[in-house]
Amino acid sequence: MAIDTVSMDKIVSLCRRRGFVFPSSEIYGGLGSTFDFGHYGVLMKNNIKARWFEAMILERDDIVALDSAVILHPRVWEASGHVEGFTDPLVDCRTCKLRFRADKLKDSQCGRKPSKHPGEIPDCDLTEPRQFNLMFETTVGPVQEAGARAYLRPETAQGIFINFKNVLQLARRRPPFGIAQIGKSFRNEITPGNFLFRVREFEQMEMEFFVPPADAERWYRYWIDERVAWYLRYGLRESRLRVREHGPEERSHYSQGTSDIEYLYPIGWSELEGVANRGDYDLTRHTEFSTTRLEYVGQDGERYVPYVIEPAVSIERIMVALLVDGYDEEVVGERERTVLRLHPKMAPVEAAILPLIAKSEGMVGKARSLYEELRRRHSVEYDDNGAIGRRYRRQDEIGTPWAFTIDEQTLSDDTVTVRDRDSLAQERLPITGVRGWLDDALERDWKTPKAN
Ligand code: ATP
Repeated sequence: MAIDTVSMDKIVSLCRRRGFVFPSSEIYGGLGSTFDFGHYGVLMKNNIKARWFEAMILERDDIVALDSAVILHPRVWEASGHVEGFTDPLVDCRTCKLRFRADKLKDSQCGRKPSKHPGEIPDCDLTEPRQFNLMFETTVGPVQEAGARAYLRPETAQGIFINFKNVLQLARRRPPFGIAQIGKSFRNEITPGNFLFRVREFEQMEMEFFVPPADAERWYRYWIDERVAWYLRYGLRESRLRVREHGPEERSHYSQGTSDIEYLYPIGWSELEGVANRGDYDLTRHTEFSTTRLEYVGQDGERYVPYVIEPAVSIERIMVALLVDGYDEEVVGERERTVLRLHPKMAPVEAAILPLIAKSEGMVGKARSLYEELRRRHSVEYDDNGAIGRRYRRQDEIGTPWAFTIDEQTLSDDTVTVRDRDSLAQERLPITGVRGWLDDALERDWKTPKAN
């Protein structure tokens, strides 16, 4: 029986065991809710970024790339409203000394037993909420004085808005067009947790799409649909995705409309990605604060401040969703196996090359030369360490979709077996056809064999 829902603990432990993600600064006792990515974690993150970049830029004509600085002029954050308003309401419990987000009490556990939500046991003694700014402050230059204060960016979007004029002029664009950026963001979250879901340092992928105001609603709907389609394309189960539109009271100050694309994480339905219609708020505010006019002026003298539609997500939340959706345990024959049923283009390793007998010079020689050929264009791994069954299980756990095994028969007829991670089916191929087979296999549509 395949499993339907996996606990976050199982994901954390697999990530640790297989070197995807480690708790950061572990030899110093760890630093809460920060993580380091190991080899497979880095490969998977690179895939997530590459698939997003393809969908946003390479497959389209209307979006360009940008890589702006992490530390921007401090006035940027005054203009954006972050200095004043990027806050969460914080409450302290005088009894258990824990801190909570006042708007997330129902998702939090009080520090005493039997564990309840904060405020639900008579001993709980919560303070009034106070506003806590989530931006990390730093100092630019050697002198610690007020004028040198700066912030680590809490979102990549503002780096895009302040480059609007550069892109408009130099990339010769006119609305509708977009600017996309991938980069680190930092938020001093009050209650980080749930593994990578809420961390203080994360990598965002944001795209700001500038449109004529009258078309904003249409583009807002368009980007919600596009982003949902992207998740389905990369294998997330439809039943685990939903779009939740914010009510007016929930929206940010700048927003004309916001929808969360939610995934059914082990912690329940939660925001995977946000799609917002930010109106003309950002360009107007930066025009006001910088005195540089950020607007579109057409050949015919037409002039307006474009509205902005923004899909924004972090790689970390996508990675957790992919791992949760892909995680499976099943019994095959007498044996249990854990398998990550990842989309082949998201899996850290595309194929493993395995000589059946590590002591056979003939098998090792052929396996190594196949590996040398494939590694030039593919993420592949050579492994001759241990019994073949154990090697297959290692690859299953890191989600490798195919394994090519070089065996006795290869020595006589130059064919190899290819084993499919999901179906466990094996077929034989000529060794000279492996590269073409892998190229084709990666282009095929993939659907998870897990029940919906
Ligand atoms: P939340 O309500 O969960 O705090 P948010 O509404 O503040 O999130 P946005 O400001 O819309 O989040 O950020 C855009 C995206 O960045 C989110 O959809 C999420 O994918 C990601 N993100 C935001 N905060 C974090 C975090 N602390 N850790 C990991 N990813 C994050």
